[in-house]
Amino acid sequence: MVKKVLKFGGTSVGTTQRIHHVANIIKKEREIGNKIIAVVSAMAGKTNELLSYSKNIDENFEKRELDVLLSSGEQVTCSLLAGALMKLNIEAKSWLNWQIPILTEGEHTNSRIINININKIDEYLNKGVAVVPGFQGISKDGDITTIGRGGSDATAVAIAKIFKADTCEIYTDVDGVYSSDPNKIPVAKKIDKISYDEMLELSSVGAKVMQSSAVQTAMMYDIPLEVRSTFTDRKGTKIFSQENIDYSKSVTGVAYSKDDAKITLIGVEDKPGVAANIFEPLNKNQINVDMVIQNISSDQNTTDITFTIKRDDLVKTKEILKANNKIKYKNISHNDKVAKISIVGAGMVSTPGVTYRMFRGLADSNINILAISTSEIKLSVIIDEEKTLDAVKKLHTIFDLD
Ligand code: ADP
Ligand code: ASP
Ligand code: MG
Repeated sequence: MVKKVLKFGGTSVGTTQRIHHVANIIKKEREIGNKIIAVVSAMAGKTNELLSYSKNIDENFEKRELDVLLSSGEQVTCSLLAGALMKLNIEAKSWLNWQIPILTEGEHTNSRIINININKIDEYLNKGVAVVPGFQGISKDGDITTIGRGGSDATAVAIAKIFKADTCEIYTDVDGVYSSDPNKIPVAKKIDKISYDEMLELSSVGAKVMQSSAVQTAMMYDIPLEVRSTFTDRKGTKIFSQENIDYSKSVTGVAYSKDDAKITLIGVEDKPGVAANIFEPLNKNQINVDMVIQNISSDQNTTDITFTIKRDDLVKTKEILKANNKIKYKNISHNDKVAKISIVGAGMVSTPGVTYRMFRGLADSNINILAISTSEIKLSVIIDEEKTLDAVKKLHTIFDLD
């Protein structure tokens, strides 16, 4: 008998028929005596639908109220799954965030789980399945909060940690983690096992099959994860620490995201402190700067500074820059039709020439690189958005992943 956290994503609970199917997966686990906590997402598309309602009321809908609205999606699936289990004669009960409670801290729509009370649920697991909503919690003031898009993965991992579960299985609409998004790159291959570090890098640069903060928690507390399909019995991908992982390939995966925008300040004074003056107010306003490039401009006295930020932060960033009287520049330009393409692989550390091969491959496909950033096991470039899939396919091929 083991204690398992099983998380079912939006597509897995996308219709009532699928919820019946999920109930059958859980039934099999109960029949062999396992203790089960099921974490559910909202039905596929629901969170976006709710978000669009809020935008119809006000483009900048107040965030406390947004959390009340968005959290309702998971409440629906929680109840339906508990009902579907009872229909199969499996004892089950749903527990909403405030009933447990799942305590969070941080700002609305982007909170973090800091504690989960286990007492009531742990006792209940001896007799039935606990069904818990992903993506949400309550603050110490008793307000409903959400923990960021894709956050049900983070709920599942936090529950696995606090309840000391033996396994945490992420059931989704693909049968594992692939070398690239299998829905966009059909030649992508399934990865049987992957280290936390590589998964963390891949998810933070666009492989949304796992949410990055969930992987980070799993890595910190050494919680093994398995990503697998709700719709087939095939073995999934195991995510765990580095031992026993073969790094014969320099690159493990290629990911992309279209979440970034690029800003260039043209003709900035070239003297000490200028970069600090540009980025200080951005930092104060929680605007995360990712890549930065500085060039001496043609007049040799000034410099051009290019940096990337989240696309959602573009309007606010430009307002902050324009209001910043500590900096002088000739012009400001932006481009939000860009994509970030990244290669990730622990094998990069020991393989020379990966950077060159990436740049050569992009050049051969006539793809211009607008910005670059690197970490030990990741290399990212910003390119024109319309070349996204060409770039991903090319890199997938040249790094022998097809
Ligand atoms: P869920 O609703 O179950 O949480 P998500 O839509 O968040 O599912 O994540 C699953 C999706 O992630 C897949 O349908 C796939 O299109 C996408 N994806 C992106 N990159 C990868 C990858 N490297 N491997 C597998 N899936 C990926
Ligand atoms: N329903 C939320 C979302 O769509 C959380 C999740 O599915 O993980 O982002
Ligand atoms: Mg997801």
